[in-house]
Amino acid sequence: MNKKAVIFLGPPGAGKGTISALCEKEFNWKHLSTGNVCRENIVNNTQIGQEIAAIIAAGKLVPNDIIMHMITLWIGTHQDNLDGIIFDGTPRTLEQAVFVDAMLQEKFNNFETSVIKFDVSEDVLMNRIESRVVCGNKNCQRVYSMNHDSELRPKQSMQCDVCNYELIHRPDDSKATLKKRLEVYYQHEKDMLDYYKDKDVKILIVNGQDPIDKVFQHISLIANNSSL
Ligand code: AMP
Repeated sequence: MNKKAVIFLGPPGAGKGTISALCEKEFNWKHLSTGNVCRENIVNNTQIGQEIAAIIAAGKLVPNDIIMHMITLWIGTHQDNLDGIIFDGTPRTLEQAVFVDAMLQEKFNNFETSVIKFDVSEDVLMNRIESRVVCGNKNCQRVYSMNHDSELRPKQSMQCDVCNYELIHRPDDSKATLKKRLEVYYQHEKDMLDYYKDKDVKILIVNGQDPIDKVFQHISLIANNSSL
């Protein structure tokens, strides 16, 4: 069976991280979130972390060369014994998309790329981001919501269900920064979609406002090799 490269395209708050965690649990897929890698670098105060902290706080994109370096390192350490990779929030630019393709060609004999595009209205994104909290453990970073009616509410207030670490608000999850992040996301979305369409890559559009299990069921089609 071909390995899967599953690219999650969607604005911040679309549910990519939540669905990634489910896919990782359910299938032998590994989850690459460059956002998580960036935050790890910041917490560890690495040289890269120092370079990118202000960029992320401002809601801008980290330079392509830094992201490509992170992807290369990540694939180098995770490439064995996997059936698929979920690319969560990466690529975010056309240049990164071309790079990821070349990298996959080089590392794996056969793999099949699919794109999942998460559609969510701006109002819903705003609401989700304002109520979003994440696990403060850099190795976990699980996403929760403090919305009363959310499926993602933690069992205990402000504590991670999985590792019991304290939940924190991401500094870039403010209304003002989200505006910038959305603007940046939509600037690049079309270029990436056009690129994948030109390459005849399957693109599945999911309604990110559907319940989590419904979105997940759609994505399971890919794992089970059904046609989209
Ligand atoms: P995320 O957790 O995916 O929302 O990413 C948080 C922040 O990290 C983004 O707002 C960007 O500043 C940065 N970032 C994450 N992934 C990328 C990427 N592939 N390209 C550029 N910047 C990124």
